[in-house]
Amino acid sequence: MAVNIEKYSSLLNELKGKATLIAVSKTKPVEDIQALYDLGQRDFGENYVQEMVDKQAVLPKDIHWHFIGHLQSNKVKFIAPFVHLVHGADSVGLLKEINKEGSKNNKIIDCLLQIHIAKEETKFGLDAEELKQVMANVEQFKNVQLKGLMGMASFSDDLNLVRNEFSTLLSLYTEHPQFSILSMGMSGDYTIAIEEGSNMVRIGSLLFGERNYSKPFLSGKNMQ
Ligand SMILES: *Cc1c(COP(=O)(O)O)cnc(C)c1O
Repeated sequence: MAVNIEKYSSLLNELKGKATLIAVSKTKPVEDIQALYDLGQRDFGENYVQEMVDKQAVLPKDIHWHFIGHLQSNKVKFIAPFVHLVHGADSVGLLKEINKEGSKNNKIIDCLLQIHIAKEETKFGLDAEELKQVMANVEQFKNVQLKGLMGMASFSDDLNLVRNEFSTLLSLYTEHPQFSILSMGMSGDYTIAIEEGSNMVRIGSLLFGERNYSKPFLSGKNMQ
């Protein structure tokens, strides 16, 4: 068993009253998810559509599945029936698709807008100007509920940089009093994120150990 149970309980204590813990289980076997589930964990985060669909099919139905990866419009339909919160909404086009699938499934799909706060070019997300445009367009989407913002800081040893990036995200968040979720903070930077106002952290490797992308996540199967 690769799950760090002690870390899990100390983390819960640390986060109590401050932030919701999303256990990021991407690439990890369903046994590891079940182990945390048995301890009471219900919120899990996944990055890959097919992987989340496969895991959802075999795990308890009261799990809250958070899609935290980059979501392609043509894959929304696969997760729409069961997804709890989409963290990475980053365009009007994607929201339109989520709205369509929400409507088909007769549900309102909760979403966070991903904001680009890191220096790295590779990270997805909106800038402040694009955020305004999306906010101006989202009213029409009756089957989408925007609950807040999500962001990833730079992978950097420069803690001031990371803090500033989180602080930028907090300012955008507080400009929208209708929002209630600020998803920021991962294994390496969640302490700073919470100091900067995060109320939802996405933590993987601290709980499940380092990821090995070549191992199958469903026992006996090798799926991608
Ligand atoms: C993988 C991932 C995480 C968790 O990362 P760790 O460093 O393992 O805690 C959090 N958020 C997103 C968007 C991720 O892709």
